[in-house]
This record gives sequence, C-alpha cells and structure tokens, in this order.
Amino acid sequence: MNRRDANARMHAQVMERPGSALRAADVAVPVPGPGQLLIRVAACGVCRTDLHVVDGELPQPKTPLVPGHEIVGRVAQVGAAAGAYAAGERVGVPWLGWTCGACAYCRRGQENLCASARFTGYQIDGGYAEYAVADARYCFRIPEMYGDADAAPLLCAGLIGYRALRLAGDARRVGLYGFGAAAHVLAQICVRQGREVHAFVRPGDREAQVFARELGAAWCGESTELPPAPLDAAIVFAPVGALVPLALRAVDKGGSVICAGIHMSDIPSFPYASIWGERSIRTVANLTRADGEEFLDVVRRHPVRTQVTRYPLAHANRALEDLRAGRLRGAAVLVP
Ligand SMILES: [Zn+2]
Ligand SMILES: [Zn+2]
Repeated sequence: MNRRDANARMHAQVMERPGSALRAADVAVPVPGPGQLLIRVAACGVCRTDLHVVDGELPQPKTPLVPGHEIVGRVAQVGAAAGAYAAGERVGVPWLGWTCGACAYCRRGQENLCASARFTGYQIDGGYAEYAVADARYCFRIPEMYGDADAAPLLCAGLIGYRALRLAGDARRVGLYGFGAAAHVLAQICVRQGREVHAFVRPGDREAQVFARELGAAWCGESTELPPAPLDAAIVFAPVGALVPLALRAVDKGGSVICAGIHMSDIPSFPYASIWGERSIRTVANLTRADGEEFLDVVRRHPVRTQVTRYPLAHANRALEDLRAGRLRGAAVLVP
C-alpha cells in the first residue's frame, strides 16, 4: 500500500444537478476506504445510461456526481482489506458498484435486483475523472489483448448485451434493434455462436447498415421493416418504446422481445394478437458479478473487435451529444 498526498487534486467532469451540462471541475482525489481501490482512470466508456442520468430520467442520482461506469484503469492505491488486487494492476469497474448481500434477491443469486444496490456513476462517483474509487469485490480483471479504450465498452455495452442474449436462449435468428455500442459487440458473438443476426436501424441510417454488415449481420433493414423470415428473439437496445410492438411483430410464435435498456419512452398500446402465440416481453436489469466473469471469459477466448471514438475528458459533453444524436459508430470513450 502506497500513501498518496491527502491534498492531491484531479480534473473531473461533474453533474451538479440533472438536466444541466457537465462542468469541468478541480476536485480532491478520492481516498479509498476499507475494501476499496483507488484507480487511475485510463479510459471510461460513455454509455446511454449516462445520458439518462444527466437528463434526469433516472430518479435520485447522487449530486454532485461524476458519471461514468465503464472504467478501465490501474490500481494506484489499495485500501485496507482490498488485497485481491495489487498496485499497478489493470482493473475494470462496471455499473454494479455495491450490493447488500442480505436481501431476498441477493440471497437467491439475483444481486442485479438487490433492493439497496448502488451503481457506479449514479449513486457512486464514476470514471469521468482522472481517478475513481471502487469496491474491489465488484471490479474485474480485463483480458490482456484489449487496449484500455478498446476494453471500456465491454464493461457495460458488451456485458449487458451478453446478459440480454442469454435470455434469448438458443434463438437462432436474432434481431438487434439499435446498432450502437452494445449491438456491435453482440453481433460478433452471435455470429461466432452460429446465430443469424438481423440488424434494425433508424430509418435513413445507411451508415449503421453498412457497419452492421461489416460485423456479419445476415440482414439489415430499418426498424419499421419486417425481416425476411420471423425472428426467434429480438433485443431492443434503443430507448424507444415504439420499437417494442414492431419487434413483437417481427418475432415468431414462442419468441421473445428483450428490452436491454434501463430507461425507455412509453410503449404504445398494441393488439393482443401481436403477443399471442406465447410471445413474451422481458427486460434486462443491471448485471451480476457472475455475468461479468462469464462475459469477460467469452471475449478472452474469442476476442471481439470494438470500434471506439476517443474524446479527451474535457470533451465529455460533446461525447454525450454525439451519442444522443446517433453520430457515433460503435462506442464513445473518454481518455483522461
Ligand atoms: Zn441485496
Ligand atoms: Zn451502461
């Protein structure tokens, strides 16, 4: 354990209150408590959930808040009893930051649903900064073949996408609605598993269709179109409720529509016939540590290529705006 200057300062991007742009701030470097690591941030992914937090669409964030929950960095200081990691080791910090371990959900292996869970970049300061503190028990080791920025989108986009795919079971024809950070990783995993990827993009977004084809999609179309044959499952990544009835229309009897986002606009009403035939709608909430370990093992054994656009930390607002406007191919990553 090395001691740091207690008065050390760092640059951070801070949300003072929801609904306002982030502000560049000079703040104290956080001090790791028992069980925690101080991490020097090398890269932090920009996730759509960050937009929902900044826009005030998720209730009761910590304020002021440093957003960011796809953190890749190196351990700068090890707090007491956080001995699983050593100084200098590379770690990843995901969205799930703390769980109680005692509630009914935690006891039955659903810590993603923990009644008092705390999340990175929401109730805990995250990675839009030069340093972050994280509970060592919720950190991951990152496979060595990925660069820091390339690994960042794996920590949420990749991981949540993988959890959504698991809910799709052995679906062979899989539809992906919204071809951004999550879908671009998941498409590669689907293809490797012998599934047929159908990419549904915003009407008029030719570039996203080209990108999806490059990553192995068998069919690309606009979200209002029907695929050439019914899907076994559809995963909706875009936060647009109107896509749910469209996706239901595209899945076969017995198929499922899985909504992978934390927030979505209202789902319009639809005829019962759209869901009849044992179709189902499910959601994915957060992650468990077991999900993270399993997913990182999959991408260690079968590497995926992530496409990232790097932004300096000071340009966090621009990265968020580019994500909002759909101007990104793949994922945005802040590099301090
Ligand atoms: Zn719990
Ligand atoms: Zn996320």
